[in-house]
Amino acid sequence: MSFQIALDGPAGAGKSTVAKAVAAELQFIYIDTGAMYRAMGLYFDAQGVDVNDEAAINAAVDGAQVTIAHMDGAQHIFLNGEDVTTAVRAEKAGMLASKTSAYGSVRRKLTSMQQEIAAVQNIVMDGRDIGTAVLPNAPLKIYLTATVEERARRRFLDLKEKGVDADIKVIAADIEQRDYQDMHREIAPLCQAEDAVFLDSSDMTAEQVVAKIVALAKERMN
Ligand code: C5P
Repeated sequence: MSFQIALDGPAGAGKSTVAKAVAAELQFIYIDTGAMYRAMGLYFDAQGVDVNDEAAINAAVDGAQVTIAHMDGAQHIFLNGEDVTTAVRAEKAGMLASKTSAYGSVRRKLTSMQQEIAAVQNIVMDGRDIGTAVLPNAPLKIYLTATVEERARRRFLDLKEKGVDADIKVIAADIEQRDYQDMHREIAPLCQAEDAVFLDSSDMTAEQVVAKIVALAKERMN
């Protein structure tokens, strides 16, 4: 039987950093579902599909083949055979994902892929609806959040480290807009699953969050 850790929370809460470290420590596979939605967003954009037009999205959705492979322990994401691992990290891809992930056809496609992946191996899966919709029976669910200010500050520092010039106010506004879109969509909105453990990382280091999740996982695996 495989063991799943469902890790949900808003943009910039540190989910991917934490999920990667937890997966490495437990020797689980890490699945970044946001990257899958980002790849879909890039696909619609490249096809010239209007992201506000649901019928056009529905007509185009089957043309996108999103696949995941793990190379040297890192997740690579492919869109119709092309490695888009770097391209999906762009802010624009995040916003496109947030818009197009609201559609049922997009969610159904990726949700069933994610369920198939999780059925056959031990995984840490991060996203917005993992504990509530994708893996409602996951033995460990975490809802990880932090204040908007702290999330914006972390993203700003990340970008600065990469040499990217950014405005912290613009980042905070972008985060707030994405939170709103993700929490207010009709299908599988971002919310804490009833049985999820709530962690506010505003005053915690990534190491502390990782240690807490690893301890909970070890407890529940026994
Ligand atoms: O986590 P990340 O910022 O990469 O996610 C990008 C967008 O993809 C989110 O803002 C959200 O709209 C969407 N998403 C989702 N469900 C998931 C993961 C991501 O709707 N499980």
